[in-house]
Amino acid sequence: PFDHKETHHFLKKIETAEKSDYKDSENTYDLAKELFEESDHIKALEITEKTISDHHGLKKSCSPHHQLQGDIFFSLARKADTTDIKCVYLFASVDAYSMSSLLCPDSVSSFYGCARSLIELGDQLGINSFYKKAESKARRGLSVKMLKPQDDLKAELEDLINLATWKMNINEAMLVKINVANQMQGQCKVDTYVIDRLKNLWGKLDEKTKREFLVVDSTSLIDYLHDNIYDKKMIEHISKCLCVDDELGWRWWKCRICPQVNYCFTDCKWHILDKHVHEFLPRNCSRPKRVDKFLADMICCGNWEPVDTSRAVDLIKARVKGREEFIYVNGWCNDWPVAKDEERKEILRQFAEVLKSSCSNDTLPCSLWDWLIDYTEENVNLPHVPGCYLDRWSFFKNPQCICFLDLKSLKYILEYVKQFTTDVRTGLVLAVVDRLGAKSLVNERIDLERGGLNLLLDERLLYEGEHGFDDLGTVRTFKSTEIYEHVIPKGDEIVSWVLDCPEIDTNFVSQVAEGVHNLEIWLAVLRIVRSTARKEVSYYSKRDKLQTYANMLGEAEALCDKEDKWRNAYQRSRYALTFRSVCERRVTQDNATKCCFLNVVRDVLQGAESPRFEVLQDKEFMECISELSTTVQNDVIRRSMCRLRKWLNEKLVLIDSKILLNEWTYKKLLAFAKLSAIDNRLVVLPLVKMFLQ
Ligand SMILES: [Zn+2]
Ligand SMILES: [Zn+2]
Repeated sequence: PFDHKETHHFLKKIETAEKSDYKDSENTYDLAKELFEESDHIKALEITEKTISDHHGLKKSCSPHHQLQGDIFFSLARKADTTDIKCVYLFASVDAYSMSSLLCPDSVSSFYGCARSLIELGDQLGINSFYKKAESKARRGLSVKMLKPQDDLKAELEDLINLATWKMNINEAMLVKINVANQMQGQCKVDTYVIDRLKNLWGKLDEKTKREFLVVDSTSLIDYLHDNIYDKKMIEHISKCLCVDDELGWRWWKCRICPQVNYCFTDCKWHILDKHVHEFLPRNCSRPKRVDKFLADMICCGNWEPVDTSRAVDLIKARVKGREEFIYVNGWCNDWPVAKDEERKEILRQFAEVLKSSCSNDTLPCSLWDWLIDYTEENVNLPHVPGCYLDRWSFFKNPQCICFLDLKSLKYILEYVKQFTTDVRTGLVLAVVDRLGAKSLVNERIDLERGGLNLLLDERLLYEGEHGFDDLGTVRTFKSTEIYEHVIPKGDEIVSWVLDCPEIDTNFVSQVAEGVHNLEIWLAVLRIVRSTARKEVSYYSKRDKLQTYANMLGEAEALCDKEDKWRNAYQRSRYALTFRSVCERRVTQDNATKCCFLNVVRDVLQGAESPRFEVLQDKEFMECISELSTTVQNDVIRRSMCRLRKWLNEKLVLIDSKILLNEWTYKKLLAFAKLSAIDNRLVVLPLVKMFLQ
């Protein structure tokens, strides 16, 4: 039934297609590299991004393109003049290099680039963990087999490792404040004498002339520009900016990867999500549980004052004697004596702040809270107070119990909780997005006269007082200039408006005309968004694995508990033997959890330090299990299960926190679609002002 000849042809076709794929992506890579060397970052990024997007960035042939983007973003970071923009580029370059080394694990230069960007991030943000990550990346680069001892990169990687370790040690407690851009208002100051004179002249004009001032003939505007300095290319760009279809607008949202244009922010945001970010939607059941509203309220309403524990012990004794209770209202009781300890107070304040912000973002996992309470139970020091008293007042069910911890424990939980409830990228990216987004806002509307080529300026210019942003940028068309007839000019603010004219940057004009304005930072943030989406996928698969293991360990624990319940000792069998017979039964069934259960039993019997998640043949598992089942004693098994349980709980706390934080970061970062805005009026208005002068 198979036509061998045809399948053969088919295979050949695929082969050549794949080869030409490689060839194509090599050619475009060379071109992009050349453009980068000529420092045309925009074009170089556009070309590499096209290849990456075409293949969803997941082919081996994409690796050099990712790496080149890493180089480009790193060089943009070097050029950036504010810390936050610099860091956004550095984060993007780290992701680009990581993708490159993921697709091509022997790309030593990607490891090198990644480590270099991470060290720079450590320097910029004063955060030690970046040096640690840099060191491990550089070490992975060194371990690549193809690296020859005489290779330059080898020496450079070793230098990076030394640098990172050195910085880690000197940077222990350094904190750098992020300096948010202190942008100079790039506007030319006009002599107040000139302003006064012009205002005086304006005041003498009649209302009609004033109204006519709002009508700008675009043909004479272009002529005026021809007569002034501008070359053909520039005029072409300006004409493009001036040209709007009547139902469309000045303001548009342009995707920086594909030709898609939207005239509404929400549509643009959905387009980017739909087409360019591979969003991951987890099954509802694997989503980590968050603390409920009741507990969140208790955390947020407390005043978190440190408690004087020795006086507290006295108070407890007195209350027990007098048969008096401690009354908690919403998790807090005012009777506890406050300690006069400024240091503890400050740490508690910071700790509460972290918890409260986590609660308000709805990213505080139950598992983390349970861990905190367990930790507190183990470390609170209330000598001579029996646990049953504390239980009677639900002492450890109220957040206030944390206020009983001493300084050392408080410092520990603060660091522990802080590390996975804060993501420095969010604040940085949002600051950049907001600042650049604000720059594209325009106050004045511009309408068109139908038929003619007249621009009709915003009538509000003839009035006094502030007027808000026009963030729709729609263009209305009117039959004639009669629309101004009802306008009664007031004041002379229009004079300062006309004179307040930023310099016209030819580069900026061409970027607006071609829809590539802010392209570099847009792509950088997209990389960060995509990397959070990817991380979410890997976090969830890790969590599922841990969860299954925890469930199987639970089954094993239940088997042991069942044995303990037999009233007569002769009915009990040794845990290990029970395990063996259950395994023998399960091995004949074919279900998803079989392998994991065998793993758990083997880990327990062998006393493994942590779960091993190995995939072995059933036979290999069974051999090992039946051999050990004759020797391993019950107490050894209980200890082993305890150790594994503890390890799992710690990992689950970690992964739950990471998932929730990452999810929140992802949602926040989507605001970056704001950077898609392009407003032609940013080009048109300064020109109009210049013309009117
Ligand atoms: Zn697109
Ligand atoms: Zn819409």
